[in-house]
Amino acid sequence: MNMVVNREPDASAPARSSVSDNMKTVRVGNTTISSKNFSVIAGPCSIESEAQFLKTALAVKAAGASLLRGGIWKMRTSSKSFQGLGSEAFNFIPEVIRKTGLGLVTEVTDPRQIEFLDGFISMYQVGARNMYNYALLKELGKTQKPVLLKRGLSALVDEWIKATEYISSGGNDNIVLCERGIRTFETSTRFTFDLNAVLVAKTRTPYPVIVDPSHAIGIREHVPKLALAAAAAGADGMIVEVHPDPQNALSDGMQALTIEDFANLMIRIRKILEATDRSLSVTEPTLSIL
Ligand code: PEP
Ligand code: MN
Repeated sequence: MNMVVNREPDASAPARSSVSDNMKTVRVGNTTISSKNFSVIAGPCSIESEAQFLKTALAVKAAGASLLRGGIWKMRTSSKSFQGLGSEAFNFIPEVIRKTGLGLVTEVTDPRQIEFLDGFISMYQVGARNMYNYALLKELGKTQKPVLLKRGLSALVDEWIKATEYISSGGNDNIVLCERGIRTFETSTRFTFDLNAVLVAKTRTPYPVIVDPSHAIGIREHVPKLALAAAAAGADGMIVEVHPDPQNALSDGMQALTIEDFANLMIRIRKILEATDRSLSVTEPTLSIL
């Protein structure tokens, strides 16, 4: 039987005096992620085809996203599930980036992909299953491209923060943290969204901390509510899955927002941000997207 232990917060962990002190602004292509604004990274779980990616990308851009997401090599629990388009996606990714003016955030699952991805994307995503892949983190530390470091499925905040040091000690401190839900005893949702961790991480690192409400709850109808709660609580942004036809998505269709859901969410996010004296991050078309 599991013992339930009531613990005091870890008082020995170094805390910075306030959230606003020395917070880092991370430049990602032609936009920035920081605590001053709220950054929205949106797109499909997986890039499935040129038509699907372009349609989603144009729609999320029109609704106010400042970066695109889209998996190329997927980390699926089952090896029989769709593994991503792989290098075929590079035939049309530059065109989608050019047409939208938005940079791409995509997951790097193997250090050998780094050199290849470098000329196509604006930010490397390290997935939850790779947070402890220190060989990968060290290789990303040798690049200057920003890294979105997702929290491991069962990682302590302390382990998540220590993982950033594998990247920064190589010379790359362009890091953004992402809370994407953790595994707990609860099975009624895909994972358990840990908003506590967002608030604590923001006092313990200078890096921006964003959320992934899609993977955290895994249920489409609830994704917007988590996103709004996180924006109200001061998260620095979100990465959210959007699909033009979620019923037929090749991965994570259950949690994907439709294009219309996303546009509605963005209207409400703007109201929350206005009430908390912030606004959406924007792109600077004069800057390089990569
Ligand atoms: C994803 O972003 O599609 C993904 C697989 O996320 P995570 O690594 O958080 O599971
Ligand atoms: Mn996904």
